[in-house]
Amino acid sequence: MSFSEDDFLPISALQHFAFCPRQCALIHLENLWDENRLTAEGRSMHEKAHESQTESRPGMRVAHSLRLHSFRLGLVGQADVVEFHKVPNESACGICLENIAGRWLPFLVEYKHGSPKKNHCDIIQLCAQALCLEEMLGVTIEKGALFYGRPRRRHEVIFNNELRRETEDLTVKLHEFFAVGRTPSAGYEKKCDSCSLFAHCIPKVTGKRKNIQAYLAGAKIINEEDDK
Ligand code: SF4
Repeated sequence: MSFSEDDFLPISALQHFAFCPRQCALIHLENLWDENRLTAEGRSMHEKAHESQTESRPGMRVAHSLRLHSFRLGLVGQADVVEFHKVPNESACGICLENIAGRWLPFLVEYKHGSPKKNHCDIIQLCAQALCLEEMLGVTIEKGALFYGRPRRRHEVIFNNELRRETEDLTVKLHEFFAVGRTPSAGYEKKCDSCSLFAHCIPKVTGKRKNIQAYLAGAKIINEEDDK
């Protein structure tokens, strides 16, 4: 299947969807966004990563803010940093860069605030970026890295078959989710405490309200049966 550009969805939506479908709907369907300490830290790290467009280091070229897309997955986004590592000329992996001698292997780095999350959402986002870049450059990218603010360290991510499949499956679900266009109800979980939309979502209240509605619906059925 191949998507048209009109149907592209943001890679950031995939990350939000992997974190919490309700958060994804609130941001991307209802256009809600709220900045908390964590998102402010994240924004500042992203701005730093995007400061210069390209730079050169020994054995490496670095591109910032590279636009990404995939017609196969129907995704569009931007990479914080793509490092191109020099590989031997005779190497089968890697690509040629315009006006630069040698062969180069892309390596994605995504900057994140805070510490590594318990769920997979950042890893899924990075893998989606890699799948986009692979399609754009016709190259296989085996690994990338997430750089977290606390502690300030890179965490290498291997794009194995399982992660690729998980990312692709979630992308299919994301397109279905947008096609339906409905915001799911809340359910409080530990991760809600760090969610930038906590105040809008009020998961402890809206989750309870749902339970009350379920209770009332059940009570109505019992009453109707009593009336028979
Ligand atoms: S507060 Fe919790 S349920 Fe609500 S959007 Fe955030 S993560 Fe999802």
